[in-house]
Amino acid sequence: PVVTRFAPSPTGYLHIGGARTALFNWLYARGRGGKFLLRIEDTDRARSTPEATEAILKGLEWLGLDWDGEPVSQFEGRERHAEVAREMLANGTAYKCFSTPEEIEAFREAARAEGKSTLFLSPWRDSDPATHPDAPFVIRLRAPREGQTVVRDAVQGDVTFGNDQLDDMILLRSDGTPTYMHAVVVDDHDMGVTHIIRGDDHLTNAARQIQIYQAMGWEIPTFAHIPLIHGPDGKKLSKRHGAVGLHEYAASGYPAAAMRNYLARLGWSHGDDELFGDAQAKEWFDLSGIGKAPARLDFKKLEHVSGYHIAGMDDGQLMQEITAYLKETGAPALTELQASRLVPALSSLKAKAKTLPALLDQGHFALTQRPMEIEEKAATSLDTVSRGILFELTAALQNASWSRDDLEATVKQIGESHGLGLGKIAAPLRAVLAGRSSTPSVFDMMLALGREETLARMQDHAG
Ligand code: GLU
Repeated sequence: PVVTRFAPSPTGYLHIGGARTALFNWLYARGRGGKFLLRIEDTDRARSTPEATEAILKGLEWLGLDWDGEPVSQFEGRERHAEVAREMLANGTAYKCFSTPEEIEAFREAARAEGKSTLFLSPWRDSDPATHPDAPFVIRLRAPREGQTVVRDAVQGDVTFGNDQLDDMILLRSDGTPTYMHAVVVDDHDMGVTHIIRGDDHLTNAARQIQIYQAMGWEIPTFAHIPLIHGPDGKKLSKRHGAVGLHEYAASGYPAAAMRNYLARLGWSHGDDELFGDAQAKEWFDLSGIGKAPARLDFKKLEHVSGYHIAGMDDGQLMQEITAYLKETGAPALTELQASRLVPALSSLKAKAKTLPALLDQGHFALTQRPMEIEEKAATSLDTVSRGILFELTAALQNASWSRDDLEATVKQIGESHGLGLGKIAAPLRAVLAGRSSTPSVFDMMLALGREETLARMQDHAG
């Protein structure tokens, strides 16, 4: 069975690149009835914080990526990491190195002076244990000196590293703590990880990690190193390109489902399919669809994807997304009255909105209350003539049936009696119902507000 994992270092918020890595691993596992595990790589005690772990978990939850079991703390596994290093000592694939930092530096300087490789060659590699001093030591991998180490990567193809380029890496430091490289391999093995999908900045690490797998006789997982995400200009993604934290996208009002769709397409493709839901993504996602070239962020495309998902949501889903969005931005939740006026308008609002705040902006009429402020531009449509017409209309609407057809007929009829088309009579109606000149259709607003509120808003300005 397939087992994937996401292994963030808890040193900050969840980056959009990390979110995509997590999504790929989640899709790969979920599409195959496999497991998706979470490991917090918190061995760097100086840089890891519980707040960062919280932020990352929160980001994954927001994005809807559920993981199996409890998150694993890498730091908690340090005893196990040490134990494996001692096993490697015992089976001869690792050795104790007593070289001091000064000695290593002296070795490097001498090598540099002679124009030779500065890769450290420990004099202890082939020493007799009987001659070992009673002094601090590190445990080093007895890496192969000859030949090559090949990373058979599902995205990059076979990537070959000459073993003369890879030194005897440290597995366990003199204080008994594991190095990152060693901890990752032990954890991935113990967690039963079968597929490692991660950023291609870890490609060289894979070669070193493979040497540890080989030393332990462990099965090597499938690696898939994905190109990093670039900005719209093709340069490495950074703050100046705009949002890089997943939370910033949540705060901009992109629904999580849209982010999943958009991020899935960032570096992976399935023919020309651009717009899809989770079920399709899980079915389609495969390592062979991951591109070798860095994907570029494209905010226009994100808007398009977002609009598609918003338009496809039912009222319940949409209200859930709106609630989550308001919470994310620290805005007050909708009151029951606001919600009751917004819901009937959702079907028309969602057809046009690309983001949740854009939808709420068009739905302003449902959220505002009397007495309403009327924006300057909208107010220009309110003059003596139009106020008189509103007065007439108010009277006519007292007895209308409040069906769309009836409302349309009544408004049209009053307009025509003044020689005005629907467009002309709609402007003052927009002004009094929403306080704005850009609104949903006046009939959508009337239906959502109901008779009492509609007439009250009209009466505030009729006369
Ligand atoms: N902790 C590493 C990172 O955040 C990931 C290591 C891995 O996936 O093997 O970049």
